[in-house]
Parts: sequence; C-alpha cells; structure tokens
Amino acid sequence: MKRYLKLEKLFGAEFLPVSKSQLAKGAAPAGVPKTPPRPKRASLVPIVGPVELPPALAKLKSEIEDCTRCEKLCRSRTQTVFGVGSLTAPVVFVGEAPGEDEDEHGEPFVGRAGRLLTETLERVGAKRSQVFIANILKCRPPGNRTPEPVEMANCVGYLQRQLDAIKPKLIVLMGNVALKGLLDSPKGITSVRGTFTQAMGFRVLPTFHPAYVLRNMTALPTFEADVRLACREAGLVR
Ligand code: URA
Repeated sequence: MKRYLKLEKLFGAEFLPVSKSQLAKGAAPAGVPKTPPRPKRASLVPIVGPVELPPALAKLKSEIEDCTRCEKLCRSRTQTVFGVGSLTAPVVFVGEAPGEDEDEHGEPFVGRAGRLLTETLERVGAKRSQVFIANILKCRPPGNRTPEPVEMANCVGYLQRQLDAIKPKLIVLMGNVALKGLLDSPKGITSVRGTFTQAMGFRVLPTFHPAYVLRNMTALPTFEADVRLACREAGLVR
C-alpha cells in the first residue's frame, strides 16, 4: 500500500479518493466532507504549442483539422491532436488516441501517461523533444473509450504520412490497441513486446502502453528497458 501511494505521488496524484465505506470506518478525521474530494488533476507535461511545419506536414495538419471521416469523433472532439516533437526524430512513439488532457491541449501524451513516458525517456538519457510522439487516432474517443477498428482504419493514413515525412529509424508501438491497429497481430502485447518487427514500411518495437504501466507498476522496468533499447537502436543514446 505504501509503495502504491509513493508511486501515485511520484506520478502526480495529490489526493486519492476515499470510498464512503472507508469513510464510515473512520478512515478520515472528523470534519471531512461526506463526498470524497475529486482527485486533483496531475500536473501536465509542459505544452509545446504550435510549431512551424514544412509545407507537406502543414498541409497534412490542416487536412486532419478539417477531417470529418468519423462522424462521432469529429463532433465530440475539442480539437485534433497532430503530434509533437522533432520532425527529424530517429524514433517515433505511437499511442492509441488522445485522452481528455490531450483533447484539451492539442498535444499527445501530456497527462499522467505522458509524464511517465517523458520521465522514462529522461531516465534512459533521451529528451521528449528529440523524439516524435503521435497517436493512431487524432481525435479523442468520447469518455476515452477504446477506438473502434473503423476509426483506426479511417485515421491510420494520416500516421503513415507523418512517418513517411519524418522517416524514423524505428517506431515504438505502445499498447495492445496500437499493436492490433497497426500490426493486426493475433498475439497480445505481453508476448510480442521487446521484439522487433516491420509495419508501415518501418522497423517497429512494440511495448506496453504507459497508462498500463501506471496501473501495473511492476511493468515499469520492462517498459524502461524497451524504451532504452529503442533509443539505443535509433542512435539517440548509448
Ligand atoms: N494515451 C494515448 O494513447 N495517447 C495519448 O496521447 C494519451 C494517452
């Protein structure tokens, strides 16, 4: 329990919700309101904001901003989330879809999962600004539900064009949804992570999704080893 609380703190939680039954058992001192306080949002990864893009990527970005291929997503999104980082990155990290924080700020992986990814990159000696980070979906699925296969099929062409422009040495596919979306793999992420494969014309290393690692902290050393391997293979770190 202590370790769990420490990890929660490390990744930004300042409050944890307490259930009514825990409160009734006297878990909180007198005077605490009956409804537990909503957990405060963890601080975000610093937002980079719009950057100047070369013409081909600027055109792609405005196409994505105007996209209406997924009827539901284009109505519910606050904005599209293009991607962030170096446009000459030797390694591109790909997740599944923007969440609430990403939809609000227009950048991928800026919430808790993004902090874990950013801090893991730093621990292996790389910087978030040296890599490119994107998602298969450019719009947030309502309530952060899992993207539907048709939504991934509608959107994956945009990712392909990003990759073709950046030409990374390696792509890191994070999580089962990205794995199924890009590789159509019959195997799950646990069995294929850490092993190189090919997709979309690029070398690919699948690994866990940082949000999964947040829920299963025992996976952190493995996730870190995969990120280190990817950064080494891409020539970012020794
Ligand atoms: N999870 C993702 O897959 N992508 C994000 O941008 C944030 C959380």
